[in-house]
Amino acid sequence: MATPQISCPLCQHPDRSLAASWSDWEASLDHREDGPMRLEAGKACGVADDAPDLMECEACGSVGMSLIPTRDQLGQFYASYHMTGGFVDKAKKKVARARKRLRLLNLLAPRPKDGPRRFLEIGASIGTAAEAAQRFGFEAHAVEIDSDAVTRGKGLFPKVSFTEGRLEDVDGEGRFHLLYGAEVIEHVRDPGAFLDHCRRLLVPGGILYMTTPDCGHRLRPKPLLDWHSVKPPEHINLFTKKGMAALLSAHGFARHMLPPHTKPGMRIIAWRG
Ligand SMILES: [Zn+2]
Repeated sequence: MATPQISCPLCQHPDRSLAASWSDWEASLDHREDGPMRLEAGKACGVADDAPDLMECEACGSVGMSLIPTRDQLGQFYASYHMTGGFVDKAKKKVARARKRLRLLNLLAPRPKDGPRRFLEIGASIGTAAEAAQRFGFEAHAVEIDSDAVTRGKGLFPKVSFTEGRLEDVDGEGRFHLLYGAEVIEHVRDPGAFLDHCRRLLVPGGILYMTTPDCGHRLRPKPLLDWHSVKPPEHINLFTKKGMAALLSAHGFARHMLPPHTKPGMRIIAWRG
C-alpha cells in the first residue's frame, strides 16, 4: 500500500494544496520526449492506479507526492524505465565534474589524526565521484542499488569499494568524513530517515554534500508541469531552500550552506552537528 503523506515531509507544516493532479501529469506527458516511456512505466509499477497528486506546501513551497509509492512499486518502476545507456561513455566527464566540486569539499572535510580519510558516494551509479575522491587521497566507497551499475563501476574503478544496496546497508557509525549524494534525495521515500542515516555514518563535524533540483529557483518554469524535474514517481519530493533548511536542521545538520546557483538546481553543504 502506498503511504498517504498529508503534512509537508520537509518542514512539517500541516497544510499542503494541490499543485497538479495525476491526470494533469499524465496529460502533460503528451508534450514530453520521455512521455510515452514515463506513462508506460507509471502504469507498469501500479503507481498510476493509485493516482497520487502533487502537493505544494503552504509554508515552504516544496512540492511532493500525496502518496508515497511502495518500495515494490519503485523497484518495478526502475525495472521498466532504465537509463543505463550512455553512463559509461560519460564516465570521464563525470569524474572531471566531481573533481571540480571536490576541490572545495576536500578543504572543508575534516582530516583524521591517523587512519584513512573516508568518502562515500550515495546513489553512486558507476561511482564517478568516488573515483574522483580516490584521486584526492580518500579511501573511496560507493553505495548503489542497481547491480548492473555496480558491476560496471567495479570494472572501471577497481580502487573504489562498492556496496550493492541502500544507504542503510552501509556499515559503520561515524566512519566517514565526507558523504556525496548527487541528485539522490529527491528520489527517496523518506528524506528525514535518509538524513538520519547520513548523520549516523559521519564523524562529528563530517560533511554531507548533496545536489537536488531547486523548486523555488527564480528560473524554474512557472507552470509546474513544464519543469523537466517534475517526474513522479522517480522524483518524490522537489525541495525549496526553505524546505531543505528545515529538514537539515531537524535531522542534525543545523549548520549548512545553500549557495546561489545559476540554474534551478540546489547545492547543499551540511556539517554533522
Ligand atoms: Zn514545507
